[in-house]
Amino acid sequence: MRIARFSANRGDGAGEPAYGIVTGDLDQYGQPADDAVIVELAGDPLYVGIKLLEREHRLADVKLLAPVLPRSKVVGVGKNYARHAAEMGGDQPTEPLLFLKPNTSVIGPGDAILYPRQSEHLSYEGEVAVVIGRICRDVPPELATDVIFGYTIANDVTARDLQKSDNQWARAKGMDTFCPLGPWIENDLDPQAFADGRRLQTFVNGDVVQDGTTADMTWQIPDLIAYISAAMTLLPGDVILTGTPEGVGAMDVGDEVEVFVEGLGALTNTVARR
Ligand code: MG
Repeated sequence: MRIARFSANRGDGAGEPAYGIVTGDLDQYGQPADDAVIVELAGDPLYVGIKLLEREHRLADVKLLAPVLPRSKVVGVGKNYARHAAEMGGDQPTEPLLFLKPNTSVIGPGDAILYPRQSEHLSYEGEVAVVIGRICRDVPPELATDVIFGYTIANDVTARDLQKSDNQWARAKGMDTFCPLGPWIENDLDPQAFADGRRLQTFVNGDVVQDGTTADMTWQIPDLIAYISAAMTLLPGDVILTGTPEGVGAMDVGDEVEVFVEGLGALTNTVARR
């Protein structure tokens, strides 16, 4: 199922956020059909499960929001694709390289990525995001599936110049709007689907700039959950960004950036001056 968070008052933001299931199939570009509907759910399915209400909206009539608001953290994994590690000019880490993005960096599909005055090189990083479904720690890889709520798409927006000059990545990765998530959470997939390989593409103004496969992750999702949960307790709604394939590059004010992941959909955002 595709679980979305939405506001029924498209545009004006006045509607109370609600959750719903997006119906129908996606086309080859990850887009739902024109007549797709969203069937409303009672409450947040992370906490109360899937309870369908007898109320639906045309998908085209609602504004999709970030499908999850991380209660505590977004955990990023750096250099988890060998060719991206190479293009960054360093060796691949010998263990997963972790960093944190604050939950205040999260925005939804269609929201603007705000180009901050402190940076002159803002980069996209298309990624698969894992949404955690239950409180857990010290999860062995073979039990990782039990703690996964589902998967969505992320753009791990990075101020590349500040990443170099600051040493620590808190500013470079953590500014407001630097974590677009969406368009919904797919909960019917297994981590093995990503190990087997799902296509991941990023487009800037329609041009392909990243074209990779999740099979190329150095550490696959169960190993990442084991490694991260050995260090910190994971809570429902926490999000793990699984790294980006090669092809990272600059975004400019006015650009439209889309991240497509086979089987998940497409996440589109524009870049605006802060
Ligand atoms: Mg990244």
